[in-house]
Amino acid sequence: MINFLIFGPPGSGKGTQSVKLAGKFNLRHLSTGDMLRAEITAGTELGGKMSSIMSKGELVPDEVVIEMIAAKIDSTKGVAGFLFDGFPRTVAQTEELEKMLNARGMKIDSMLVLDVDHDELVKRLIARAEQSGRPDDKDPVVIENRIDVYKAKTEPIIDYCRKQGIYQPVNGMGTIDEIFGRLSREMKKLI
Ligand code: ADP
Repeated sequence: MINFLIFGPPGSGKGTQSVKLAGKFNLRHLSTGDMLRAEITAGTELGGKMSSIMSKGELVPDEVVIEMIAAKIDSTKGVAGFLFDGFPRTVAQTEELEKMLNARGMKIDSMLVLDVDHDELVKRLIARAEQSGRPDDKDPVVIENRIDVYKAKTEPIIDYCRKQGIYQPVNGMGTIDEIFGRLSREMKKLI
């Protein structure tokens, strides 16, 4: 099994690229954002509790996403590995993910980080709001808060992974296909 983190600020294209990469390399794509939105759509108690946090652009509690991910890892069979998207988002989540994988004879093999300019991020999120209807994409104040939360809580994971020699930056500017090509080339080196 080979396990990748796809990383980058909100609007960097993680979700779009993950779907394509998971298909190409037979990886299970695990997006905590998608899982949380599915809870909200299904009207579960958990979804109800998380929706106001998400609509402000804040992070939901670590335990919530860790539990979701653990359940998915254990119920997945027949794939070449996992592609984690939007998780981990804090150093504590990263440590928990490592523990979870180590306990199952796996590790985080590579962290692919999409680098995108700030103005391009805001532009993409505003454009996405029109199609997705996501409340956290519609409000410029919430968009800026999500980028700030990323810088404060999520970016420190890059240093953590750099120390472990698994950090791989990728240019996230350009067309979807260009970026897909760059990410695929990095993944192929390991698969
Ligand atoms: P984006 O790709 O735009 O960053 P996501 O779909 O990954 O958005 O996540 C949407 C929201 O869901 C986040 O702003 C946050 O509130 C919540 N969320 C998703 N994943 C996590 C996580 N690993 N830890 C905490 N909160 C999360």
